[in-house]
Amino acid sequence: MNDRAAQDRRAVLAANLAAVRSRIARACEHADRAASEVTLVVITKNFPASDVQILAELGVTDVGENRHPEAMHKRAECGELGLRWHFVGALQSNKAASVATYCDVVQSVDRHKLVPALAAAVGSAGREQLECFVQVSLDDPEAMGGRSGVPRAMLDGLVDAVSRAPELRLVGLMAVAPLGAPAPVAFAQLRQLHAQVMRAYPGADWLSAGMSADLEAAIQAGATHVRVGRAVLGERPRFE
Ligand SMILES: *Cc1c(COP(=O)(O)O)cnc(C)c1O
Repeated sequence: MNDRAAQDRRAVLAANLAAVRSRIARACEHADRAASEVTLVVITKNFPASDVQILAELGVTDVGENRHPEAMHKRAECGELGLRWHFVGALQSNKAASVATYCDVVQSVDRHKLVPALAAAVGSAGREQLECFVQVSLDDPEAMGGRSGVPRAMLDGLVDAVSRAPELRLVGLMAVAPLGAPAPVAFAQLRQLHAQVMRAYPGADWLSAGMSADLEAAIQAGATHVRVGRAVLGERPRFE
């Protein structure tokens, strides 16, 4: 990118980021919450490392990626920007070891098999603990082709397994609003599930919900982390 293009991109990201931050602030006000309770995780999938660099300069503290090895390469290209890297995508257990080496937080723990895989990787990556959200499915259990996440009936067991692994720190729940259902209804269910989990595990007090289209509904339902891609970076370019 030449200087002019880099400056233009920076101006676009700064304006988008300001708009998203003010949406978050308004939603917090509406929900009677402090804006400092909500962490913005900018989802940078399909966008280049140069954008991540600009975001860091603009004060973004947390970024998220959904695919290995794209995430690994971008993380390496970015060097030390002082960002927290979240993994938010479907994770296969054979990739868990790699992801645990370059991500600080895994938001998409949705299967038992991932627990020993991530735990073992934490030790060999020389880090003390990996922060983990358990991803729960908000889909109608009867629906076909649901989005990822552990089915509600199996949530307690998975939460328990994560909490028992000393290498993993259970930080809370993550979910994606189901397609074709109103986000406020889904997020209200999520809030109830989260309250149940917190009764047994008070430390699991983070709730990751809300994306570009529905962050207000998520904040209303108690989200502590919103995952925003398009509203900050624009429509995603397709690499494939
Ligand atoms: C891509 C993605 C997002 C961001 O979605 P936008 O609609 O671009 O804001 C959030 N969460 C997950 C899990 C994603 O894969």
